[in-house]
Amino acid sequence: MPPPATPPRPPAEPVRQATAGWQRELADAVRDPGELCRLLAIDLPLADEARRSAAGFPLLVPRAFVARMRKGDRHDPLLLQVLPVAAERQVAAGFSADPLAEAAALAAPGLVQKYAGRALVLATGACAINCRYCFRREFPYAESGATRAGVEAAVDAVAADPTIQEVILSGGDPLLLDDERLGRLVERIEAIPHVRRLRIHSRLPIVLPTRVTESLTAILAATRLNTVMVVHANHPAELDAAVAAALARLAAARVILLNQAVLLAGVNDSVAVLATLSERLVEIGVLPYYLHLLDRVQGTAHFEVSEDAAKCLHEALRARLPGYAVPRLAREVPGEPAKVWIM
Ligand code: SF4
Repeated sequence: MPPPATPPRPPAEPVRQATAGWQRELADAVRDPGELCRLLAIDLPLADEARRSAAGFPLLVPRAFVARMRKGDRHDPLLLQVLPVAAERQVAAGFSADPLAEAAALAAPGLVQKYAGRALVLATGACAINCRYCFRREFPYAESGATRAGVEAAVDAVAADPTIQEVILSGGDPLLLDDERLGRLVERIEAIPHVRRLRIHSRLPIVLPTRVTESLTAILAATRLNTVMVVHANHPAELDAAVAAALARLAAARVILLNQAVLLAGVNDSVAVLATLSERLVEIGVLPYYLHLLDRVQGTAHFEVSEDAAKCLHEALRARLPGYAVPRLAREVPGEPAKVWIM
């Protein structure tokens, strides 16, 4: 099969001042598949395959995340989330570049509005990690306003719409903004009288826990807005002591912590893994929120778990865990007024 036409993803915004520890760690993230294979003592031919399969969406993984992978195991569930593989080059029916029709949901530059009362600001197009299953892996960030000017326009649009009570910072990963920029953005949002809640969608506390700096928690503790952070962990091995400590710092800043996971074949499609993930999340103060069915973006078909299999897993999970530890099984369907709850 020919590879899908993949427009190049915009490069990560350059780290302007690599002063904070997390910024240095990000600059030092693993980008070369050969280096990743050597670090993990796995077959080097996998690196050649990864180079061929990474067009437009390269390997990117912080060393703090690599350190949680098992050496010598090419099927490690964390590795599978980040290593490009040949299956990404196959064209699969029903998989497309923008499966959630987000381009059509742009209410203003940098502002995605799908659901009543909420609006999502594309704070940046960059991430600290490139998850192979990412539903925005082909999203045209620059053209959609995920830029400084776009963020300004997005906040202006929120200010002009009194129905918006909750602003969601997303991306890319909004915590890639440095604290100075993030602080200014939060100040601008909290100055809008009709906005009551701030939600931040970020994988950074999981993959680069040093990002949860004192100045970040000070910003979040000081805002008048109720603040919710939805982190993103798919497997219990992602949740080490440094992650737990970072999440505890956020909780101490009165941030409500939720987790969303994506159900991924080979990574977490077992009751034992999902149950352990939920138990570990609760142990470190995070409520399991959503277990998403895969968004069908091209190049990700090998991760898909069927809806029937997902329902079976979820039923088994409910039989095993208290209700508060069971994430809602959901799928996003373009045009629906809310996420579709499968179970
Ligand atoms: S962190 Fe989120 S937005 Fe970034 S690549 Fe992973 S899934 Fe996509």
